[in-house]
Amino acid sequence: MSQYVITAIAHADKIEPAAFMELTRFIESLPIKINNIKTLSEDRVFDISCSLVFSDNESTQEHEYDIFAKIKEAILEWENGDKIDLIFQKQDEYRQDKRLVIFDMDSTLIYQEVIELIAAYAGVEDEVEKITTAAMNGEIDFKESLARRVKLLKGIDGTIWEDLKKKLQFTKGDFELTKALKAKGCKLAVLSGGFIELANFVKETLGLDYAYANNLNTEINSEGKKVFNGETIGDIVDGNKKAELVQFIADKESIELRAAMAVGDGSNDLPMMGVSGFGVAWNAKPRVQRLAPSKLNTDKISDILYILGHTDEEIKELLK
Ligand SMILES: [Mg+2]
Repeated sequence: MSQYVITAIAHADKIEPAAFMELTRFIESLPIKINNIKTLSEDRVFDISCSLVFSDNESTQEHEYDIFAKIKEAILEWENGDKIDLIFQKQDEYRQDKRLVIFDMDSTLIYQEVIELIAAYAGVEDEVEKITTAAMNGEIDFKESLARRVKLLKGIDGTIWEDLKKKLQFTKGDFELTKALKAKGCKLAVLSGGFIELANFVKETLGLDYAYANNLNTEINSEGKKVFNGETIGDIVDGNKKAELVQFIADKESIELRAAMAVGDGSNDLPMMGVSGFGVAWNAKPRVQRLAPSKLNTDKISDILYILGHTDEEIKELLK
């Protein structure tokens, strides 16, 4: 029978005794049999290996899936989920042995949304925000919202990238995470609904292997200056394109999709999580947290290394 694991990661430095009691009580209420508890980080991160408990003898695959879904639902509903993240997954060779890790860029590898930075630069924040909100509410799709937002950038100085690079704020834990994953031999990619100049910069800075994003087209204006013409060139990187790109990179590197993991915060990151063996919703919108294979809402993205089952000692080794 398949083995599973629940990883408990506290948002604070440690799980206080009272919170630990709550956690124990909750874990015991789930239809699982605990086989082993391992400390990954003293007082803060625990790996609880378990097997599913079936109510009858017909442990068909469907039945296993039902129990899995039930546990996942209970975890989402758990009242202490805002203090301790619980990541529930299969405990198999793919859990630790990831070969490909794909990241979203905006609000994932960097804290900002690049289009908002450009909009602020151009003084069109309010208009851009309105479109972003409409997209988030599902009133318009990503392609349409990108097209409308890009249109607002028409006439803006097309050489702003150097300035914007200086403004990018990398997410806490980025460097440790990518360094450790590289040490494990993973291929790394950033797939962004933002823009390629900055995605390439993030790729270079973090030592990633691939970067794909959108291209803003430029024109020469009447004063002879290079400005954005309000359109993109080439394929739009949206949710479906991100999923296609994961498949493309995996094929190119001869990596099984089961050994891939996708990390992102937005709805358009769900398709790439869907084609990958595993996915992490990183400080994501509630809907994304609900639909993703797992959620992580701590303040350090390198906590993802615990999701792969690594201890602090192993992480230290990887970072040497
Ligand atoms: Mg994002």
